[in-house]
Amino acid sequence: MRVTSWLYLVGSRQFGLSSPYDCHIYALRSAAGILLIDAGSGLGHDAVMANLRAEFGPAPGPGAILLTHRHPDHMCGAARLSRELGWPVAASVHTAPVLLAGDEDACDLTEAKANGGYPPELRLEAWAAERTFDDGETVELAGFQLRAIRVRGHSNDSFAYLFAYDGRRCLVSGDIVFYGGVVGMINTPDSSLRGYREDLPKVAGLGVDVLLPGHGLFTMSGGQRHIDAARRELDKGFVPRCIGQGDLIF
Ligand SMILES: [Zn+2]
Repeated sequence: MRVTSWLYLVGSRQFGLSSPYDCHIYALRSAAGILLIDAGSGLGHDAVMANLRAEFGPAPGPGAILLTHRHPDHMCGAARLSRELGWPVAASVHTAPVLLAGDEDACDLTEAKANGGYPPELRLEAWAAERTFDDGETVELAGFQLRAIRVRGHSNDSFAYLFAYDGRRCLVSGDIVFYGGVVGMINTPDSSLRGYREDLPKVAGLGVDVLLPGHGLFTMSGGQRHIDAARRELDKGFVPRCIGQGDLIF
């Protein structure tokens, strides 16, 4: 699905583009190549490949795959996409070891399968990230320069990526913060309000135009106000609205 000349969505549950277990998989196109944001669950692999080929031709050329965090709906598709496209995976030093080990416990897949959140056939295939980074580093991938910003709260390894393109300031927010000021606090061992208290200020005041979350609506303008809405609730001593509270974001 083409959004603008440089922004595409090639996988998504909500937009019905691939598996119902997939996050949004954005494809950012520069003159140098294509940058996939997240890899989906892998259950929608064929649909994602078909969408990529429909937008970019049978051989989509050079590219890379950048992960926001280790959760199955974002990472389990990484190995097969990387292998078939020949595109390297980039991930933070907190996410990459889980992928390298194919550790289904550490990516919360084992527990999520047990509670029916994911089907038994969903697996995490071990794969090496060729490019790793940590908080504050600038990552160059497929013609994009992205600043990696670690924001704990949804998971300990959650990263947002800030970049400028086509005259706009853009933030990939993964499952950290969504349209409408919704945050991704969930009932897992490493999801915490404390993480949001300490780290959400790192994405305040960035003047973000384009906000690209891992689920739900995205926007091409005014993105910062969605981040700031969550920040204001925290500043007032309240818990921001969270995913899963009767909504259908996931
Ligand atoms: Zn997640």
